[in-house]
Amino acid sequence: MSHHDTDEPTPEPTAFQDFALDPAILRALDDLGFESPTPVQAASIPPLLEGRDVIGRARTGSGKTAAYALPMLQCVADAPKEAGPVLALVLAPTRELAQQVASAIDDLGRHLRIRATAVYGGASFVPQLKALERGATIVVGTPGRTLDHLNRGSLDLSGTRFLVLDEADEMLRMGFLDDVEAILAACPRSRQTALLSATMPDDIRRVATGHLHDPVELSLDDDGPRVDHIDQSWMRVPQRHKLEALHRVLLTGPPGATVVFARTRIGCAEVADALAQMGIPADALHGDLNQAGRDRVVERLRAGATRVVVATDVAARGLDVDHVSRVINLDLPPDVETYVHRIGRTARAGRDGEAITFVTSAQRRRIGGFEKALGITIRKLDVPDDLAIAVHRQDLLQEELVEASSGPAIAEAHGFASRLVDDGWSLHDLAAAALARLAALRDVDLRDPDALTVDEPPPQSQPQAPHHQAVPDELHVRVFFSIGDRQGVRPGDLVGALANEAGLPVPALGRIDIQHRKAFVSMPPEM
Ligand code: AMP
Repeated sequence: MSHHDTDEPTPEPTAFQDFALDPAILRALDDLGFESPTPVQAASIPPLLEGRDVIGRARTGSGKTAAYALPMLQCVADAPKEAGPVLALVLAPTRELAQQVASAIDDLGRHLRIRATAVYGGASFVPQLKALERGATIVVGTPGRTLDHLNRGSLDLSGTRFLVLDEADEMLRMGFLDDVEAILAACPRSRQTALLSATMPDDIRRVATGHLHDPVELSLDDDGPRVDHIDQSWMRVPQRHKLEALHRVLLTGPPGATVVFARTRIGCAEVADALAQMGIPADALHGDLNQAGRDRVVERLRAGATRVVVATDVAARGLDVDHVSRVINLDLPPDVETYVHRIGRTARAGRDGEAITFVTSAQRRRIGGFEKALGITIRKLDVPDDLAIAVHRQDLLQEELVEASSGPAIAEAHGFASRLVDDGWSLHDLAAAALARLAALRDVDLRDPDALTVDEPPPQSQPQAPHHQAVPDELHVRVFFSIGDRQGVRPGDLVGALANEAGLPVPALGRIDIQHRKAFVSMPPEM
């Protein structure tokens, strides 16, 4: 793929493989589907692996946990057997963050067989004491409870090599400064320290000056590219309905091309295949393609030969095609930077663009974080239902008619219409017949939208059980077969074939219409 990065200072993609990380850590990253480091990870991992102290601004959602957890795990893995007992400590302001960090470390340390022990207030001492006694190598704690354990003698920090202050500004704001300083004093001076904070007020700087040794300051581009000119929305879509929702979204929306983001290269290829099967040709753009392969996809997109590209973050880096009118995130991006980078593939060269993000219920709150971080509003939209799709198609048909009314063959068409009227056609009948034909070609339902009742709820509320019988015949699509009377086909033959060969449920099939050389069977569109 060619690079056209003019609008963003994103560094060249680094891969996790570029860092000196244990293969067991790389395997865990692969399990988690992390393809490439986020900016804060790319900035912090190399100096931390070199043993430097680090101070940096990092928001929740930026991937800041792995930014220190990966080098921390490497440090623990490298430590000699007799070292310890507690090799690494993370201080976090709240119980929730402490639990979350501990579980992230467990995930990343899985193949190293390293786990974190969380200690926090508001919970019984006993299980925490037991866990510490069993020999904790990594402890994640809130300052108050960590200090309690230290004072009781249940926590020994004399062998600590790696210390992290996560959300340092929050810890100070919550009045933990003295506790934090006492804990820092209990760790060896030779330890390595990372301080992460969403903001960098003076008292945080003072802590850093007092306790960090010649720290590397992470310079992250905080006022990244602006995105407020992009029309942004989100839809609540449960995981299992994502493909169906994507299909519906792609059936509506602006003209132009769409870039769909998937989390992993495997997901990317699967989604592209599934779309093709649903009748929407799509190209996959991911890291497994060689340079020539990627260039080809980008060229096809640029030339209009492909309208939908399913991409991973790495492969789409720098993608610059003017007529990409829409970006769809199949998953909530891991962090704000990634979100900004993805949606920046649309609304280029002064054009309009929209971005739609699919969000599961559990992720709903993180959308608010994105809004806050970017100072924008991300609207909630519903997945287009059948009615929305039908109305959209009627609109497109109308636009096509407007275009045709001043198109090249219009004079001849007027002449032909006059001759037909002379033959006895009414203009109304003539227009209706032409529209019916065009609608069949374009797969447009011409019924009055006000009369179109939608029996199917949109996918987010769809029950799991089949509900085929509920679909009235007029909402069916007619599937064409190139055999008919002439070949001796009877309705039962078609039903039998569809049930046995294609595995379709018989009660869901609608009207069967057998003609001389062809036959039609109505069925719900999803079949
Ligand atoms: P954090 O800012 O540490 O809370 O991370 C935010 C989310 O991003 C978490 O759900 C992580 O699992 C995820 N994440 C972190 N790093 C990456 C990465 N390099 N690629 C994909 N997801 C990531």
